[in-house]
Amino acid sequence: MSNSREFLTCLEILRKSSEFLARKGVPSPKCDSEWIVSSVLQKKRMDLYLQPDDILKEGDLVQIREMVVRRGKREPLQHILGNVNFTGLIMKCDHRALVPRPETETLIEHILGRIPKSFDGKILDLGTGSGAILFALCSSLVSASGIGIDKSEKALSLAMENLQLHDLKDRVVLRQLDWFSDEVEGEKVDLIVSNPPYLILEEWEQAEPEVKVHDPKEALVSNEAGFSDIRHVIQVSGNILSPGGLLAIEFGVSHANSVKEALDRDFKDVELLKDLSRRTRFAVARKA
Ligand code: GLN
Repeated sequence: MSNSREFLTCLEILRKSSEFLARKGVPSPKCDSEWIVSSVLQKKRMDLYLQPDDILKEGDLVQIREMVVRRGKREPLQHILGNVNFTGLIMKCDHRALVPRPETETLIEHILGRIPKSFDGKILDLGTGSGAILFALCSSLVSASGIGIDKSEKALSLAMENLQLHDLKDRVVLRQLDWFSDEVEGEKVDLIVSNPPYLILEEWEQAEPEVKVHDPKEALVSNEAGFSDIRHVIQVSGNILSPGGLLAIEFGVSHANSVKEALDRDFKDVELLKDLSRRTRFAVARKA
């Protein structure tokens, strides 16, 4: 991207940005350019094409260029925009925690399909990260209360910002805790949800730079072929869920059988559920 003063129209900057990102190997160059331009101009993506010949202000152009250059270095679009839409809620996101994934929205759908709107129990999110899962659930279940646990102070500082953004401070608490070294204790809870680290080291090594360089590794990789954290979450959940309480967990492509086996000990009504690509990626089960 050249830095000289140019008089570019909206359509031209979209085209130039898209070509630049394509040359850098960015997977969705056109779409990402639209997101960047629309966020700087504060317009909807579709509205960018309504006045395609408008000349951009120099300040906007400078900002767009900077953001496109960052994207060209494979920084995640969500970090550059500073937020992501997760189940209709805007979540702040940056390097402090995993970028909330669209696949995890499917987990939320599976949970909300099994819980009445009037649910007024306690939700525990193990490994809350940015808080996306917990805040999405608490926003839909307006009588529920929530606890978000994470070992990472950085993640919790981001979760706290999202908590304030969504005005959930009187219903949700956040706690720092490492489930491998600290006891997860307290009163019984009625719903446990978790998207723990579950990648095998080799999977992480082969991940795209957006994930490998910019998401926290500790939120992604787990020992025992990616199963160590999942096993722990299932064990802890067996101890602290109230009878009939629901556990909902996301896991990796190779974990379905081990998850089923681990759940069969303390849980009933075990369901293995698919993501949008028809791969078995979630389990929902009731404490026996
Ligand atoms: N699905 C995520 C990825 O592909 C991994 C999330 C996780 O480990 N919890 O990067």
